[in-house]
Amino acid sequence: MDDHKDDIYEDNSIEEQKKTEAEEKKGDDSGSDYEDVCFICRRPESKAGKMFRLPNHICVCDDCMHKTMDTVSQFDYQGLLNNPDFSDMNTGKGFPNISFVNLADLRGDGGIPNKQKPKKKKKKDEAEIDIRNIMPPHKIKQKLDEYVVGQEHAKKVMSVAVYNHYKRVATGTMDEIEIEKSNMLMIGPTGCGKTYLVKTLARLLDVPLAIADATSLTEAGYIGDDIESVVSKLLAAADNDVDRAERGIIFIDEIDKIAKKKNTNARDVSGESVQQGMLKLLEGAEVEVPVGANSKNAMVPLATVNTRNILFICGGAFPDLDEIIKQRLNKKTSIGYNAELKDKYDKEKNILSHVTVEDIRKFGMIPEFIGRLPVIFTLEGLSREMMIQILSQPRNAILKQYQKLLELDEVELLFDEGALEAIADKALEKETGARALRAIIEEFMLDIMYEVPKDDNIGRVTITREYIEGTGGPVIDIRSRSAEHPDRLKEIQQS
Ligand code: ADP
Repeated sequence: MDDHKDDIYEDNSIEEQKKTEAEEKKGDDSGSDYEDVCFICRRPESKAGKMFRLPNHICVCDDCMHKTMDTVSQFDYQGLLNNPDFSDMNTGKGFPNISFVNLADLRGDGGIPNKQKPKKKKKKDEAEIDIRNIMPPHKIKQKLDEYVVGQEHAKKVMSVAVYNHYKRVATGTMDEIEIEKSNMLMIGPTGCGKTYLVKTLARLLDVPLAIADATSLTEAGYIGDDIESVVSKLLAAADNDVDRAERGIIFIDEIDKIAKKKNTNARDVSGESVQQGMLKLLEGAEVEVPVGANSKNAMVPLATVNTRNILFICGGAFPDLDEIIKQRLNKKTSIGYNAELKDKYDKEKNILSHVTVEDIRKFGMIPEFIGRLPVIFTLEGLSREMMIQILSQPRNAILKQYQKLLELDEVELLFDEGALEAIADKALEKETGARALRAIIEEFMLDIMYEVPKDDNIGRVTITREYIEGTGGPVIDIRSRSAEHPDRLKEIQQS
């Protein structure tokens, strides 16, 4: 019995010991009643951030530790650091019997930022895109056709440019002739599919894509995003994989907003300066970008991204560019013996397609900037027919999406021809391109999506022109009993 008691005592004492150990450990962490205070600046952990814990319960905050280390590293100890006479007998390096502390080891978490640091793979496996695997231009265009309606010229130009670009990426240089980068400038009215084209392209090619808005960009040091933030966005889109990011696409929308400001004496920090700042990026430069954040503060690790193989696509509506083109064309035709009518081009619909580099320069883009976007093309404004096609034809057309939704309730959704035309007309009035379509459809589909699930008898809904124009309602067909119960139908057929 006694022996047994002793056992219990022993067990208890071990448990108590474990408990006190656990409590001590807890005290070391943030679990104690009192906050840890920095040994140097006396700030508590809540203000100074996570502490480095040194032996004897000494805590030092991040800032103080870094300051100390910086100060220490400025001394050369009269050449001791690199003097072989003072090297360690065993290792042959540094001071004998003195080892330098790795800051990350002191912190319990192993130094979070360093953990995220992306590993840059060696140059050897850079040619990941095999030239034989790049889709030829006609295949790229075929794929684009499945999603994007119209814009034949734009799709063709883009397919070729992308094909050439990735050929260039895959080979580096070709027979000592360095192939130029095929950065693009796309000009087209709002809502005609510029962003959509680029998004579709990036998805097809399976490359990361960053979409940035030129309106928010300013020269470094001013309020707004600095120019390199676009590369940081791309790195985030590539899951912080530098190699993947270096093959990605950056789309800069609203590029016309960084045109040179006219009649201004003040420093143009969001116009011409941004264009100047972008030159290096467009051509190819090494940029240091923060990983996992968009500000370069002290504790965020930086990654070096080379923009040489990043494809830049700039897009903009360039309002009033048509006036500049018209002026030029009219001037040309009204001089000399072959003079034509002065207003010959005034009524031309696709005037943008006559654009030249000179017109874009006149608009306010600097020549160096345009020079780095060698592939320039325009997109057409959407016509009524194109709008109707956009509604129903692409693989993920808006109407198909609604049809699928109602199909889940076993209800068929149909649109008659007149309804499609009415929706297209309404969208054209809004002058925001295809973007208006969704808003219009959502408005009238709301009632249907609300009412239909109420009544199990509804088998088919047909949207009519009258319903869109507000003069009538949709046609509702009641489900026949056999259609309502497909199993029952089978039973009837079998009997
Ligand atoms: P923007 O030219 O202003 O960048 P977007 O590309 O953002 O316009 O177009 C808005 C939406 O309109 C897209 O998400 C897409 O669904 C639709 N859209 C526009 N143009 C087309 C098109 N040619 N084919 C198919 N859908 C289009």
